[in-house]
Parts: sequence; structure tokens; C-alpha cells
Amino acid sequence: MPGFELWGDQERKELNDVLQNGILMRYGFDGSRNGIWKAKELEAAICKTFGSKYAQLTSSGTSALTTALSALGIGYGDEVIMPTFTFVASFESLLSVGAVPVLVDVDDTLTLNPEAVRKAITPKTKAVMPVHMCGSMADLDALQTICKEYKLILLEDACQSIGTSYNGKFLGTIGDAGTFSFDFVKIITCGEGGAVMTNKEEVYIKCDGYSDHGHDHKGNDRGVETHPFIGYNYRISELHAAVGLAQIKKLNSFLETNRRNHAQLKTILSVIPEITFRRIPDPAGDSCTFLSWFLPTEEITRSVVNELKFQNILAGNFYWYDNNWHYIRKWDHLKNGVTLSSLHPDYKKNILHHTNKNFADSDAVMSRCISTAVSLLWTEEQIKEKGGKMVTAIQKILKQYSVNI
Ligand SMILES: *Cc1c(COP(=O)(O)O)cnc(C)c1O
Repeated sequence: MPGFELWGDQERKELNDVLQNGILMRYGFDGSRNGIWKAKELEAAICKTFGSKYAQLTSSGTSALTTALSALGIGYGDEVIMPTFTFVASFESLLSVGAVPVLVDVDDTLTLNPEAVRKAITPKTKAVMPVHMCGSMADLDALQTICKEYKLILLEDACQSIGTSYNGKFLGTIGDAGTFSFDFVKIITCGEGGAVMTNKEEVYIKCDGYSDHGHDHKGNDRGVETHPFIGYNYRISELHAAVGLAQIKKLNSFLETNRRNHAQLKTILSVIPEITFRRIPDPAGDSCTFLSWFLPTEEITRSVVNELKFQNILAGNFYWYDNNWHYIRKWDHLKNGVTLSSLHPDYKKNILHHTNKNFADSDAVMSRCISTAVSLLWTEEQIKEKGGKMVTAIQKILKQYSVNI
């Protein structure tokens, strides 16, 4: 999956351009930087690669989400619909702007169930925030229809799905805004970094200012710029942007490799009739960073996980249901409202209300799901060997449960 697997000379070259100048900041110092503007260059490359009108780099995917939420005018008291299966950054960013995370079940796409979204809408709902998990996509047609019908903002969290497309458009460019993360384990990395994409000029201008203390970036003297609104420092550095610039040039080859390796592994696992695979709304657009599959019951899935562990082949297989960072079941800090600074009691009550609901439909999906991370470094031979071992282990367990094989 991650771009860090193929670190090399291109990354070092881009970094050296910055090191030579010593201008590590993305703004200002025009005279000393010898025309080196890595962040600007990466923003232009993002627009060109993904077909977005505007892109704003940030320090992380989390700050990209916070920036996008603020630029879209989402804040105090607004309800935002988000999935139970995501990364903690989804609710972190919502809490940081004072919005209420309304958690909603996922279906066999591992993303928002559109029917569950519809049921969660109230007069306070301001936005729907689908998360395109594990390299694949949410059912965006259905979600867009709902957003249009109820006049809701659609903010795509495409942090894990850089280069994934849906009906010919890249994820992150379809909603009112979309975000990428370039943290160390994402498809392409900056070390740390993120981006907001949007086709709306006014949203972009707000992102540009918000991520840099509210600077309007007018004129050529940073010190006398004005601040039309309050912002924060969510800037990316030139060093990080330089790494991203090398990585984005490799994205197509990463995707090609992912898709080839994914197809080979899927064919191998397909010999087991009890395995079903994640539903992908547009299979041609899948970035194939993970192969996600289901077993018939939670019990069987747990036994398979244990068997993979016992045989020392669990590495790269994720059982999200037990994961501390990606699924509601283990988010006790959120469900108990544990924050370092105090929250308004009404707001806290609201958060607890929405996070302590029954998510049986999500449980029924996630408790049977295993995602296998697809490596860029695998050889055909290695996939054959890994897949073969996995099949043997899974069949052994299925036999124990006397499922017909
Ligand atoms: C990684 C990730 C983020 C946050 O990105 P960081 O750059 O690590 O802050 C947000 N959402 C999802 C779904 C992610 O996987």
C-alpha cells in the first residue's frame, strides 16, 4: 500500500533542492529561494493529476479536514454524519470546530450506508462526510442524491484513497471539498502532510488563509498582509512538500502495481466459496491498496485471525473490529467524552448521545471482515506463497466449523 516502500533517488533529489537553498518555509523569502517553491509546485501537480480546480496543502490529513470544515462554514452545533468505520481523525476534526459527530452504520462497501444516512438527518444536519476507506470508495451517487435532496454539504475524506476514482472522477474532487493525507503510511507520502481539494474558489481562498493564521496572501510583504478572519498554523513545510512531489510522480506506477498484486491475491482467495469480498461501487476505480474480504460469522473470522497469527502470517492482515483506531467499538475516549480541555456540558451530552448508540449493523459487517494490505514490493512468487498459506489456514478453520468445502 504505502509509498514509503519505494523511497529513492527522486525523493532525495527533490529534498536536496530545498536543502541547497535552506528555505524550509513555503511562504515568503522570495529573493533567497532561487525559484524553488515545492509546496506551490505540489499543489499545481495535485490539481493537474486529480482534475481539481484548487488544492491547499496542509500539515496533515487531520488539519486538512479541520481546514475544509471551517472553510465550508461547518461549526458550533452543526451535525455532521460520519461512518463508524474510519480513522479517529474524522471525529477529532469535527470536535475541533465544535460540530457534532453523528455516527452512522457502514454496509458491505465498508463505507456509509446511504439508507442509514437518510435516517440520521435532522434539521441540524449540515454535512455528510463519507470516508473512502482502504483505497476504495463510498457509494457517492446515492450520497450525492441525498445531499442534493436535503441541501447538505458533501465533504469527502479521501485520505486513504489517493488516486481512486469513481465513474471517471477522482475521489476528493466530487463533493464540495475533499481531503488527502500524505502521512507516512498513505498511498503517497510527504512524511507528514495533507491537502484540501475543491472546485469552489471561495472555499479555496478560505482554506488558504485558515491554514496560515488567516493571512490573505496579498502583495509580497508577508509582514503587512491583513487577516480577514482568524486562522491557525496548519502549514506544510517545503521539505515535506518536496517528498510529496517525488511521490506524486510515481502514483500511476504505484496504482498499476497495486492493481496487479490485488488481482492475483483475489484470484487465489476466490477458491474458497465461503469468502465474499467487499462491494466496490466502481471496481475499475479501486486503487487496490487493500483486499477486504468477509467470512460467514464472527466466530469463524476470529478463529481465522488466531490461526493466521499462530502460523505467523497475520502481518498485513487487519481485523478492524478489534482495532483501537479505526472502529467505534474501541473509541472509549470518544464514547466517554474524555478531553483535556473542558467541553460545554450540553455539547458533551450530545456527543455521548450520538456515539453510544447501537451499531449492530456495522458490527455485523466489521466483525466478519479482514483486510489484507497489498504491498508494492511483492513478487508474483511471494503472492502465490502468501495466498496459498492463507487459503490453507482458512480452509483448516472452515473444516473445524464443518462448513462444506
Ligand atoms: C490518515 C487518515 C486521516 C488523517 O491523516 P493524518 O495525515 O494522519 O492526520 C484522516 N482520515 C483517514 C480516513 C485517514 O486514514
